[in-house]
Amino acid sequence: MQDCLFCRIVRGELPAAKVHEDELVLAFKDIQPQRPVHVLVIPKKHITSLAQATEDDTEVLGRMLVVANRIAVDQGSPDGFRSIINTGSIGGQEVMHVHMHVVGGQEPVGPMLKR
Ligand code: 5GP
Ligand code: ZN
Repeated sequence: MQDCLFCRIVRGELPAAKVHEDELVLAFKDIQPQRPVHVLVIPKKHITSLAQATEDDTEVLGRMLVVANRIAVDQGSPDGFRSIINTGSIGGQEVMHVHMHVVGGQEPVGPMLKR
C-alpha cells in the first residue's frame, strides 16, 4: 500500500510519536488529540477497514485489543479508557487503514455517542 498514510508511518517514511511497537502492531499519538490521552493502535500490515478484515487478521486484531490497556496506563489513563474503531463512511472512518483510537486521561471521556 504505497500511498496509505499509516503504511508510510509503519515504513518510517513519515514521522509519528510512537508509544508501542511489536511484530504485529504499532501505536502512536494522534496528531489532533481529542482527550489528554489519544493514541492510535494500528496493524503493521495494511487492512483497509474492519469491513475488509478476514479470519487471517484475528491475531493482529486481538493484539490491538490486548496492548490497549498497557498503552493507556503508560500514557496517563490508569483508570480506564475508551477504544473506538470507526469503519467506513457510516462509522466516520477518515484514514483507510484500520486503527483503534485509545482515548482517556484523568477525567471520564463522556457519553459514548452524541445524542
Ligand atoms: P478516523 O476518523 O479515521 O477514525 O480517525 C483518523 C485519525 O487519524 C484522526 O483522529 C486524525 O487526527 C488522525 N491522523 C490523521 N493523520 C494523521 C497523521 O499523519 N499522524 C497522526 N499521528 N495521526 C493522524
Ligand atoms: Zn495502510
